Amino acid sequence: MTDKLYYTDSHIRSFDATVISCTKSKNGYEIILDKTAFFPEGGGQVGDSGTLGGVTVFDTHEKNGEVVHYASSPLAVGSTVHGELDWEKRFSNMQAHSGEHILSGVVYSMYGYNNVGFHMGADGVIVDFDEYISPEELVEVERRVNELIYRDTAVTAYFPSTVELANLEYRSKLDLHENVRIVSIDGCDSCACCAPHVKRTGEVGILKILESSHRKNGVRLRMLAGKAAFDDYISKSNSVLQISALLSAKQEAVSDGVRRVLDERDRLKYELTGFKRSAIQSFAEKISFSSSNMVFFYDNYDTEDLRFLCNLILPKCTGICAAFSGDDESGYKYVISSGTVNLRDKAREINTAINGKGGGSSEMIQGTAKAKREAIEEYFKE
Ligand SMILES: [Zn+2]
Repeated sequence: MTDKLYYTDSHIRSFDATVISCTKSKNGYEIILDKTAFFPEGGGQVGDSGTLGGVTVFDTHEKNGEVVHYASSPLAVGSTVHGELDWEKRFSNMQAHSGEHILSGVVYSMYGYNNVGFHMGADGVIVDFDEYISPEELVEVERRVNELIYRDTAVTAYFPSTVELANLEYRSKLDLHENVRIVSIDGCDSCACCAPHVKRTGEVGILKILESSHRKNGVRLRMLAGKAAFDDYISKSNSVLQISALLSAKQEAVSDGVRRVLDERDRLKYELTGFKRSAIQSFAEKISFSSSNMVFFYDNYDTEDLRFLCNLILPKCTGICAAFSGDDESGYKYVISSGTVNLRDKAREINTAINGKGGGSSEMIQGTAKAKREAIEEYFKE
């Protein structure tokens, strides 16, 4: 079985090893060494990548106790190769995973809730707990987690004997009794885990909970730790800086500034609707009675405006009154009304003719159309 160097020392980033086997597979070559520092995917942590003898290793998995390196090119069996981990990725994974242990340990000690799910993805680390924790309570959880990081306490991993294990209190998702590896964080947590971790909590740097949501009876958290949290801070800080300049608001008061702009937008929208409605009203007053279909086109009326127009025109039209807003390129919104034609029955024919989608009642239908103005006018011409 492969000698797993990451169990001896989680900070080994390069090593020399002998190639035991090399098999061609669907995705490149599967390489097994006599020893390795590459961690195979497990315990919620993704497999390591890096190089072996200059050949790219893009993933690592465990098969029947052997660590399998997935490589882009073959390596000679029996040769000695130098292995280099993608240390930035591995260290970032360890920061996230150890951070998750501290978080889960704090939640367990504060509330007795269990971590029931853990996933490391591109958007951060997802952690599920079996009971709900409110955003207010999470503020305190986050504060305590970061306190433990500042205290820089020791993180140790070991395989206790069966007797030791029986007397040990630790978190575990599985009911294991043999070969259980315990990752212990001084003053915080003991948890069964197979993954490599930082040696001291200080290496985690920082932990930030980004969001929380209800998950069955519990809560789902999205968090970042270490460099990933710092990168996120830079990007959000830049965002706030730009918003603050755009609104001429202090950085810590940008949300008030955005609220002000939105209130102003709502007020202007309300005012604009008033102007549009009175324009529609005076336009409708000038329309004289007709038994022909009437078709109107506008650039920027919303469906409410079109409906308002159709309702005003309807008493003056015994045919079909159709109002469109939009343009030939991006398509049109429409409202069509009639006091004489059953539009529910005719909707399919109309939509086919104007390449549209939509429906409604027998008196009024609404929807969208992807046709040229000329073709629409042609259809409604009697
Ligand atoms: Zn773990």
